[in-house]
Amino acid sequence: MPDQRVIVVGAGVGGLAAALELAAQGQEVWVFDAADSPGGKLRQLRMGGALLDAGPTVFTMRWVFDELFARIGEVLDQHLTMRRIRTLARHAWGPDQRLDLFADIQASAEAIGDFAGAREAAGYRAFCARARQIYNTLEQPFLRGARPNPLSLSWRVGQRGLVGFTRISPFGSMWQALGKYFRDPRLHQLFGRYATYCGSSPFLSPATLMLVAHVEQEGVWLLDDGMHALAVTLEQLARQRGATFRYGAPVRNIITRGGRASGVELVNGEQFDAKAVIFNGDAAALASGLLGPGVAPAVRRHDPTQRTLSARTWHLVTRTQGFPLLRHNVFFSGDYGGEFAQLHQRSLPADPTVYVCAQDRGDGDDAPPRDMERLMILANAPATGDAGDMAPAELARHAAATQRRMATSGLRVQDDLDTAMHTGPQDFGRMFPATGGALYGPASHGWMASFRRPGARTRLAGLYLAGGSTHPGPGVPMAVLSGGHAVASVLQDISARHPARTV
Ligand SMILES: Cc1cc2nc3c(=O)[nH]c(=O)nc-3n(C[C@H](O)[C@H](O)[C@H](O)COP(=O)(O)OP(=O)(O)OC[C@H]3O[C@@H](n4cnc5c(N)ncnc54)[C@H](O)[C@@H]3O)c2cc1C
Repeated sequence: MPDQRVIVVGAGVGGLAAALELAAQGQEVWVFDAADSPGGKLRQLRMGGALLDAGPTVFTMRWVFDELFARIGEVLDQHLTMRRIRTLARHAWGPDQRLDLFADIQASAEAIGDFAGAREAAGYRAFCARARQIYNTLEQPFLRGARPNPLSLSWRVGQRGLVGFTRISPFGSMWQALGKYFRDPRLHQLFGRYATYCGSSPFLSPATLMLVAHVEQEGVWLLDDGMHALAVTLEQLARQRGATFRYGAPVRNIITRGGRASGVELVNGEQFDAKAVIFNGDAAALASGLLGPGVAPAVRRHDPTQRTLSARTWHLVTRTQGFPLLRHNVFFSGDYGGEFAQLHQRSLPADPTVYVCAQDRGDGDDAPPRDMERLMILANAPATGDAGDMAPAELARHAAATQRRMATSGLRVQDDLDTAMHTGPQDFGRMFPATGGALYGPASHGWMASFRRPGARTRLAGLYLAGGSTHPGPGVPMAVLSGGHAVASVLQDISARHPARTV
């Protein structure tokens, strides 16, 4: 019966995880994606003979994947080869101002002591303890839990009301909180950058986001075949369990009948019935009516001024000189406050912080590539992809500032950024509709922001959400967790409607 299927719109990592788990549970699953391959933001670019990761590069929270694979009767290590890195990233502020951070807190504290003195090393240890406490408080009730509200969260952390709630530092800004631990402005900046992992500003995010530092200390892994391999693996495992995938298949309408989602219509006019639809695009696309008027009221409309950051990325296969790159490198702006003020005013920063992922490097200084190497260079940008073209002069000025920022610490990239494969807010906006290029859903600004993200169930029966714009938030592991929440909701609702037809 055709209406026996569950349709997943989007083969981003949240949609893939949901499709895989549902297929493993014996559900008939169809996945439609507008793109021509799986992964969504977890995409890959080809340059000549080389393949480059063009989305996420930092793989964390491995337990999320271990648990997903265990639930479907598989072992992660039998499908993906990965190794845990010792050096998390190399940070630079100009000539001879360089600091490596390590997964091992003791090693990082020693490096910080050498770099900025014993007081900062002690501040770092206190910061790590606080980040760990926040993470431990939130893992079970928030990350693993279906969408909590402040009240239910304080119940779930075991202490009622404000006392329980303040255990996660929701009220002060991350920037203010970091001032308690670090006096050195470079360290303040380094640890503030963790807010950008969720596409948010350290000046506006709650101190709760300090937990991202703990997530990195718990482990960052490098995947031998690149991050895109994760998407390919999830897709293959879902296919093996009977899921059907259609690429180049944009969905223009989620069909409603009798007050519930009942199928989808593709841009080419084909229609498919379903007993449940999981939407893995940005929830803003539903609210703005891009999937049809019938589903627009299914989620709360979200304020485009509260979008997360976008980015400009440049991919190159080139030669580098003058700076000992590791896999993950950050070149910090000389004016961090100015950078975020300009992003907030929706313009490109005059002096951007630049992240360089050297995709042929590991986490040590041994054996750098002898010849050409694959680079992704990334700078934050405002999510203005739907606000008209940026002036070519502004784009050129920003690219020059990006190159200058790297050169300040000695890094010379042989090829000019003009020759690189460039992706900007408009490109991201086209690939991820209704986002303007925002890469992480709504921003985590203010203490209520995390509770405003929609959960897996929408206001419309039969329509569910999975992905980085939903609870528990953005990032690859979080999107996978959201896929799990969607699966649980779908299965629960199906069994309630058709007790005899759960599988
Ligand atoms: C440059 C970059 C760097 C990042 N770095 C990191 C990192 O280091 N670590 C980390 O954990 N995270 C990182 N992220 C964030 C992470 O990639 C995302 O949070 C996560 O991949 C989002 O997954 P998702 O499930 O929301 O799906 P998405 O990746 O958003 O994919 C959604 C899919 O839905 C499809 N779709 C949407 N609408 C329709 C429609 N109407 N019809 C058909 N298909 C549709 C799209 O084509 C797309 O394939 C990064 C992201 C980017 C872009």
